[in-house]
Amino acid sequence: MLTISNYVKAKTPEEAYELNQARSSRVMGGMMWMRLGNARVKTVIDLSELGLDQIEESDNVIKIGAMCTLRQLEECEALKEMYGDGIAESVRHIVGVQFRNQATVGGSIYGRFGFSDVLTAFLALDTFVELYDGGTIRLSEFVNRKPDKDILLSLIVRKSKRKFRYESIRQTKTDFPVIACSVVTGMVHGKETWYFCVGARPMKAALLEKQWEIPKDVSEEMLAEYARQAASEFTYGTNMRGSAEYRRHLAEVLIRREMSSILAEGR
Ligand SMILES: Cc1cc2nc3c(=O)[nH]c(=O)nc-3n(C[C@H](O)[C@H](O)[C@H](O)COP(=O)(O)OP(=O)(O)OC[C@H]3O[C@@H](n4cnc5c(N)ncnc54)[C@H](O)[C@@H]3O)c2cc1C
Repeated sequence: MLTISNYVKAKTPEEAYELNQARSSRVMGGMMWMRLGNARVKTVIDLSELGLDQIEESDNVIKIGAMCTLRQLEECEALKEMYGDGIAESVRHIVGVQFRNQATVGGSIYGRFGFSDVLTAFLALDTFVELYDGGTIRLSEFVNRKPDKDILLSLIVRKSKRKFRYESIRQTKTDFPVIACSVVTGMVHGKETWYFCVGARPMKAALLEKQWEIPKDVSEEMLAEYARQAASEFTYGTNMRGSAEYRRHLAEVLIRREMSSILAEGR
């Protein structure tokens, strides 16, 4: 059971950060995950008055406040325009609309959950996290940091001409994914670059970068070979949802499908 003694609605990010330095304090996002745990929390810190519930688009970035919900991600036109249906697809299977109206981007990213679809999607893009104390750092760096007492303010996606695909496999609708994969491609420093991100391995999402110049008329066999190589560079584990070998196989299949879909659309 979760027991909370005090509830504070922070007036400034500074107040939230200061309150959070106590060992028994906790920041709350949508509380969808936290409320299932066992803990005695002295002070729970609500960030809902800090204006972090907006998605802002500028010429170079899309900035997603930590208190934005997964439903806002799903319905965001700016993300859709840049990356097609991929972002919506990454959250579409998470429980249901009512749940996604409450679970937040901040809680999803801060939690660095192994099963996270949200992390698997954004890690493959050119994404940064804005922390109150730690400044703005790459999501790929944040994901491997141990959880600390900082406050996640926003997720910042740098706009670039990249193609993005997302797929996951679930044993039953709305369950955690058995495997989740995103594939992104674009020109980086004049070179065709492919990013592969595999999550729910069941370890948390990891990223692989390849400078592969894949011809438009690549054969099915060659594409399968690229996918096999990418999938083989991740490590996988076994749990109640699937074995390591099954996950490696699924990752290979999803990566091939996603690459094929990008190539069919044209880069
Ligand atoms: C039944 C169930 C099924 C789920 N299925 C999936 C799934 O299939 N795929 C998927 O990707 N996710 C899934 N999730 C996870 C869900 O999408 C959210 O990621 C999760 O609920 C956390 O978001 P929240 O807003 O509820 O955070 P909370 O529960 O409020 O917080 C989670 C943690 O993050 C910390 N935190 C929150 N916001 C901040 C912040 N701004 N700065 C610093 N720390 C912060 C909290 O202190 C806490 O430690 C599932 C969750 C549940 C409960």
